[in-house]
Amino acid sequence: MDLQLKGKVVLVTGGAKGIGAAIVRGCAAEEAVAIIVDQDVESGRQLRLELESAGKRAGFISADLTSVGDCSSTVQQTLRDFGRLDVLVNNAGINDRIGLESGDPEKFVGSLQRNLHHYYNMAHFAVAALKKSHGCIVNIASKTAFTGQGGTSGYVAAKGAILALTREWAVELLPYGIRVNTVVPAEVMTPLYRQWLATFPDPEEKLREITVKIPLGKRMTTPDEIAATVLFVMSAKAHHVTGQHLFVDGGYVHLDRALP
Ligand code: NAP
Repeated sequence: MDLQLKGKVVLVTGGAKGIGAAIVRGCAAEEAVAIIVDQDVESGRQLRLELESAGKRAGFISADLTSVGDCSSTVQQTLRDFGRLDVLVNNAGINDRIGLESGDPEKFVGSLQRNLHHYYNMAHFAVAALKKSHGCIVNIASKTAFTGQGGTSGYVAAKGAILALTREWAVELLPYGIRVNTVVPAEVMTPLYRQWLATFPDPEEKLREITVKIPLGKRMTTPDEIAATVLFVMSAKAHHVTGQHLFVDGGYVHLDRALP
């Protein structure tokens, strides 16, 4: 299937590692030009180098997405260096465990800044360029917005808002043909996930407890499997798909927990 992504300029927040890096590599495989936006400068530069060494066009922009100025300059730099913007992938986030008791009002707002505000800010600054290119937006949410997790109010509030904004932006941007969709991961082995596992006394046992509950294959979703759906939904093959929440989770959220 030709996804017709060749030459498309795709901005991926949090693109240096984990799910974002898989999306970046997927874009490169389709001859799209991925721009990695990340605060991890070493990993971002390394990934750009890896792609350039393989003969691909790619970019890296070092940014702290909690800064409104960095969100704005990221879009400006992309337009200056690459001349257009076709797809915004809002992916960066961190499950920072700001709970009802472990957090406080100030920390809660901080979590929203890390997980939500930059989704809006990036879309706000990108929308003029997306109108020109008839582009699209793909957001990454989390199953925790549907299931809860406990002890992580800020992260879950942000992910719930991202689902709502997907519908809201899909409606607002209908007149311009800009599609907006969200991919919802559940359990994906990434540096962020490893950090979270490490907070348990026996990470291996915790991982086993989780994977046996994943209906399809009793295994984690891979970053490449998330990336494949992100690439499809940004592509010409998904031209009549908008405002959707797409679950790539081996049935984790919706299938019967009583399954053997
Ligand atoms: P990851 O392994 O931590 O990779 C995320 C990248 O984004 C890191 O390089 C991180 O840099 C960067 N980043 C985070 N906040 C940033 C900021 N404010 N400014 C600039 N860069 C920033 O995470 P992941 O597991 O791939 O998660 C990607 C997305 O998927 C997140 O939105 C997450 O909520 C969602 N998700 C993941 C899972 C899962 O199982 N992994 C499940 C559900 C949802 P640092 O490392 O320096 O922080």
